[in-house]
Amino acid sequence: MDRFEPNLRIPGPTGLPPTVREAGSRQMINHRGPEFAAMLDRILTGMRPYFGTSSDIAIITTAGTGGLEAAVVNTLSPGDRVLGVSIGSFGDRFAKIARIYGADVTKIEVEWGQAADPAVLREALEAAPGYRAVLLTHNETSTGVMNPIAALAAVIRDVAPETLILVDSVSGLGAVPFQMDAWGVDVVVTGSQKAWMAAPGLAMIAASPRAWTAMETATMPRVYLDLRAHRESHASGQTPWTPAIAVLYQVDEGIRLMTAEGAEGVFARHEACAAAARAGLLALGFELLADQLHASRTVTAALVPEDLDWKAFNISLKRHGLVLAGGQGKLAGTIFRLGHLGSVTLEEILGALSVLERVSIEVGRAVRPGVAVGAAQVAALEAFGVVSPVAAGAGA
Ligand code: PLP
Repeated sequence: MDRFEPNLRIPGPTGLPPTVREAGSRQMINHRGPEFAAMLDRILTGMRPYFGTSSDIAIITTAGTGGLEAAVVNTLSPGDRVLGVSIGSFGDRFAKIARIYGADVTKIEVEWGQAADPAVLREALEAAPGYRAVLLTHNETSTGVMNPIAALAAVIRDVAPETLILVDSVSGLGAVPFQMDAWGVDVVVTGSQKAWMAAPGLAMIAASPRAWTAMETATMPRVYLDLRAHRESHASGQTPWTPAIAVLYQVDEGIRLMTAEGAEGVFARHEACAAAARAGLLALGFELLADQLHASRTVTAALVPEDLDWKAFNISLKRHGLVLAGGQGKLAGTIFRLGHLGSVTLEEILGALSVLERVSIEVGRAVRPGVAVGAAQVAALEAFGVVSPVAAGAGA
């Protein structure tokens, strides 16, 4: 066993706070009993503000991908025309699920690293009216880009008021503001292992009244993922099938921590950690993949420089306790990703950057000691609204 815990800086699963870990090790309870009902109610109530909805939310024991599948099979029928807006690997996955279940999927393929452009979406909707649904990714974990969901949804509501808007926010919700009802979004999916400070195993899905109505006529096959069964069961404080109780314990505790911090505090912490990560990586000479106008607040992707032996570099990072994520799909080997979501602290980000700094110096890169940590500290202070007099030029 390692003496020290690694700094797990992948974009989920995230490291867990001590009380969340303890919660996960608690004895089982009867999932048809009152204790479970009270916990389910606490979780649903605690999550609701993060979804920004007054509509019903379902908690399913499944990975995030199961949540995406639930969004598709519950609202669509084979042959339905669907517009899949993909800005990366997870956008591709969402569209693929719809296609495999028989939807007639047209894709908008956005260059990886860019966000979807509302004007391009408008053109696509106007050019071919009649889409039953548009699939959007809120936070594209593979590229570190956050889509402007409010603006994209506004275009859809304007051009195609009846079209369903299904959003993958597996790695966004809980970390950044989201207003499902105000933005006119119909289905939002998130996952326990991302912002919620818990282990993998649960997908949380909110559906608008329009989406719940669509489920009555949608004909894609579904049993385990039938959201109507989940909603009915939740109404009596239960789940239709045996849930991952240990993960629910953890989400319950995660939400307790988030509630104590306050949503605004949670959002500010993510913003500061993201700003620190970006500034630190830039100061180390790495180029960031994402269009910085749409940089993710939960994960940052940087290009691996051509003159860097990434495999050897990464082995050294791990030796110093830093675990980063590599690239996915066509970005494998060309980027690395630093996750900053869930219970992430600024100190963890500064720690990660100090390791990157040290290993960069060890392999002979032209990096001044302290440069990344310093830049990150300044960016985080700015994000928190604190201006350092020295950084502002008032001191030595
Ligand atoms: N969508 C996004 C944006 C994700 O980041 C992930 C996981 O990283 C998924 C979907 C899939 O979630 P899971 O791996 O839990 O199936």
